Amino acid sequence: MPSQQPLLSVEGLSKSFSGIRAVDDLTFVVGPGEILGLIGPNGSGKSTSIDCITGFAKADQGSVLLDGKRLNGARAEQIAQAGLSRTFQNVRVYDRLTLMENVLIARQAYDCVPWWQALAGTQACRGAERRASERGRELIHLVGLSTMSAFPAAFLSYGQKKLLALAMALMSNPKIVILDEPLAGVNPTVIRRIAGLIQSLNSDGQTFIIVEHNVQFIMEHCSRVVVMEQGRKLAEGPPSLIKEDERVLHAYLGK
Ligand code: ADP
Ligand code: MG
Repeated sequence: MPSQQPLLSVEGLSKSFSGIRAVDDLTFVVGPGEILGLIGPNGSGKSTSIDCITGFAKADQGSVLLDGKRLNGARAEQIAQAGLSRTFQNVRVYDRLTLMENVLIARQAYDCVPWWQALAGTQACRGAERRASERGRELIHLVGLSTMSAFPAAFLSYGQKKLLALAMALMSNPKIVILDEPLAGVNPTVIRRIAGLIQSLNSDGQTFIIVEHNVQFIMEHCSRVVVMEQGRKLAEGPPSLIKEDERVLHAYLGK
């Protein structure tokens, strides 16, 4: 448990799908500057938890507080505006749009001028557009895709799409970035690049929640790990303790 005031507090989160408890009374906190790992076997409720926290699914029960502000019941874009951004297990980018258009769309929900200013093309509007373009360029450069910036996202490999999705998630300067299986299906070179980016962003203070099956990554990069099994929290602690935990070895690592 981090010593500081939690940045995110999830309490008693539950969600059922036609009688199946996908998430069952899940409670955890994330402190500022942490990388929290969320692991567990397939079907243990990790993605559903993320969906409920970020407003992509409606929780049946429980509360989610970001910086002390209650988020449950809010719509996904309101939660994004409050500072929680996410990527998806099945990467979601707009194939027909350029990389730059993709990052600009990702920002639409956040740094938006009111519609009447946009229509009038006011100075505030032009300033916001310029800042967004600059930030978009910076992020595309950060994830190493500058040379492809004007290409449609369809030209990218699966791993490069995950890098683009990371840039999109960062576009709103979120308080917490939640990554759902950022390394799955990605080649070792891109894995190293994504891992390096997460590490360097975290050194600059970015907080992460990372759902990942790559145990080596979780053990090396996370400050704490929450282990789920059948919708419930099975164990929680620093990686050094989690990898020794009998229940985790049995349930997750199959030992
Ligand atoms: P994980 O991300 O840990 O692999 P999920 O959160 O995707 O697990 O799934 C948890 C459980 O909820 C599984 O049993 C899955 O089949 C079920 N589930 C997830 N989404 C839906 C849905 N939209 N409709 C019905 N069942 C679902
Ligand atoms: Mg999942």
